[in-house]
Amino acid sequence: MIQPVLPTYNRAPVAFVRGEGCRVFTENGDAYLDFGAGVAVTSCGHAHPRLVAALTEQAQKIWHTSNIYQMPGQEKLARKLIDVTFADTVFFCNSGAEALECAIKMARKYHVAKGNPQRQTIITFAGAFHGRTLATLAAAGNEKYLEGFEPRMPGFHQVAFGDHAALAAAINEHTAALLIEPVQGEGGIRPLPPEELRAMRKLCDDHGILLVLDEVQTGMGRTGKLFAHEWAGITPDIMAIAKGLGGGFPIGACLATEDAAIGMTAATHGSTFGGNPLATAVGSAVVDVITAPGFLDNVQKQSLLLKQKLAALKDTYPDVIEDVRGSGLMMGIKCRVKNTDFQAAALAEKLLLIGAGDNVVRLLPPLVVSTDDVNEAITKLERACMSFKAKAA
Ligand code: PLP
Repeated sequence: MIQPVLPTYNRAPVAFVRGEGCRVFTENGDAYLDFGAGVAVTSCGHAHPRLVAALTEQAQKIWHTSNIYQMPGQEKLARKLIDVTFADTVFFCNSGAEALECAIKMARKYHVAKGNPQRQTIITFAGAFHGRTLATLAAAGNEKYLEGFEPRMPGFHQVAFGDHAALAAAINEHTAALLIEPVQGEGGIRPLPPEELRAMRKLCDDHGILLVLDEVQTGMGRTGKLFAHEWAGITPDIMAIAKGLGGGFPIGACLATEDAAIGMTAATHGSTFGGNPLATAVGSAVVDVITAPGFLDNVQKQSLLLKQKLAALKDTYPDVIEDVRGSGLMMGIKCRVKNTDFQAAALAEKLLLIGAGDNVVRLLPPLVVSTDDVNEAITKLERACMSFKAKAA
């Protein structure tokens, strides 16, 4: 029977109608501890009063004008992002994939503007995920997601994640940029060592190519710094962000240095909804919340606690948990059981987790998570682990 909504998702048999902080509630009032945050989106928790106020205040003024007019909300948010990053300029869009589309176009246009139009190829990394548009699918090169959608867009060349020698050998006169997630999310929470990110920055400088970071999942405080590349002490030329930037309201952004953005002149790119007044009002409130003194300290503190407790759990249940890895509040449990079974066992304990590649489940709680929340999550995870023990017995 045809379904009213195109059946492209494997949906869990549960629906949420309300959220508060780190908890979401079903129609009949069942509370779930949200350690997925809608795949790293509800960074400030559900129904954060400052975000609700920003949205309702804007909703009473104006919802939409157009990018053919001045957009004060965009300027305000752009300035806030510029103040706290490497960037000189920002393009607003509606999603992570769109932010990457802008980044890819910008990288190619840069070389055209610099008189090197042959520099078109973007080097990407095995296990990457950059979105579901045709360009971002081609960039990530995941055969599972590309199947049936040929012909794939040319102009991407993939090398193994973290293989510096292969990367250095792949750079040639056609290379425009390197595109990488500082921590692979969908790929299974695989952090790139900071020294490798520094080496990539140097390769880009040596060859006159651009470093493009996909911080859609790692950005906006997720790893305990505002952006994950800060751990390596480098800056990119271009950076795509989304997810946590809107705290649940759809918004994406492509940030760039003045030099990297040189080709993006009037009429080279656009979006009807991108940087809509509602989205930028919420985005501004999110930036205020995340950059407030002490906010990231809590991310780092809870991350440490979570890591320690997960390591202990791994020691207690080696038949269920193979490995624990990640950065900040972007943690992955590599399972010995099937990750989808582990996720289902956690759901039965009313704990929300997110699946990933490499048989991993992700823990991506709202960044406002407390010590009590972490302890509760660990109790639920322990019960989930025990349920496998019980089954095996
Ligand atoms: N890049 C990364 C690293 C992501 O994790 C995602 C989404 O999961 C995307 C890009 C695509 O973002 P969106 O689904 O908003 O298009």
